[in-house]
Amino acid sequence: MTDSTSHTTEQPTAPVVAHTRTELRAARAALTSRDVAVVMTMGALHDGHAQLVKRARAEHDHVIVTIFLNPLQFGPKEDLSRYPRTFDADMEICTSAGVDVVFAPTPDVVYPDGDPGVRISAGPLGTVLEGQSRPGHFDGMLTVVAKLLHLTGARTAYFGQKDAQQLLLIRRMVRDLDFPVEVVAVPTVREDDGLAMSSRNTYLTESDREVALCLSRALRAGGDAAAYGPSSIRRAAREVLVEEPLALVDYLVLVHPTTLADVPEWYRGEALLAVAARVGTTRLIDNTPVLVGPGGGMLDVFTPEATSLSAHP
Ligand code: AMP
Repeated sequence: MTDSTSHTTEQPTAPVVAHTRTELRAARAALTSRDVAVVMTMGALHDGHAQLVKRARAEHDHVIVTIFLNPLQFGPKEDLSRYPRTFDADMEICTSAGVDVVFAPTPDVVYPDGDPGVRISAGPLGTVLEGQSRPGHFDGMLTVVAKLLHLTGARTAYFGQKDAQQLLLIRRMVRDLDFPVEVVAVPTVREDDGLAMSSRNTYLTESDREVALCLSRALRAGGDAAAYGPSSIRRAAREVLVEEPLALVDYLVLVHPTTLADVPEWYRGEALLAVAARVGTTRLIDNTPVLVGPGGGMLDVFTPEATSLSAHP
């Protein structure tokens, strides 16, 4: 027999919040298992971040989320000062997703000696696509990812396919510099109308948002043409973008998943269809992995074979 008074709704426990290195060490020491995964974020959390956390939660004993706006990866004319800061709402998302520890340091905690003289270099892959528009961005990103891996001691790290070049460079760093870390890719989470979720979507006006839909539509059109080869994919995607003159396209490319080189017309296999455009005052990026060739189409994430770094076109 059930007794309605016995149905207490269990409140999820709020994560331990660490702002300093000492607090993080203490929080880390209090975890009961060494099976710890990390999800690194810049805050202003949305359902895309929540999916990363849920995957990490399902696959590991403990999850640490880092919330850090890394000044090193923002250019002088970029949006560091206006980037949305929503710590209380972020904590609610972390609480309901079952996060154990939130590490939310200030820049002086992460960089106690000021800007680091020694940094991770992203190399040539950091100078194309996003790197071309954002010089130094990927060096700054890799430097903080390396530091946060050391500080959290996590052995598995979850990253979104949404930031495909970032994901590739982190895989590269882990492999090239022998970090004892497993990198897991999580598919891009989208709004119902296809817009890829992003903290920067809050910058979009209502009409910008309509315009912004052309990015995901272009990717879908490209994916639908995947069976017919690279030039058909590029053409189908471009046709969607040219119909939206208010989206100022920075690049639309179909490139190899690990070299980021344009795939040649004969290429069959997995490739990255990626787009960047300015809509209003906001620079947006989106991408999809595609299988090029007969039976091809959009993929959620690349297969392990496609991202094994020995793969070449
Ligand atoms: P950010 O806070 O924007 O730096 O993102 C933190 C992590 O969340 C990165 O690994 C991103 O790739 C990932 N992420 C951001 N937006 C999405 C999304 N819409 N779907 C999946 N992952 C995302």
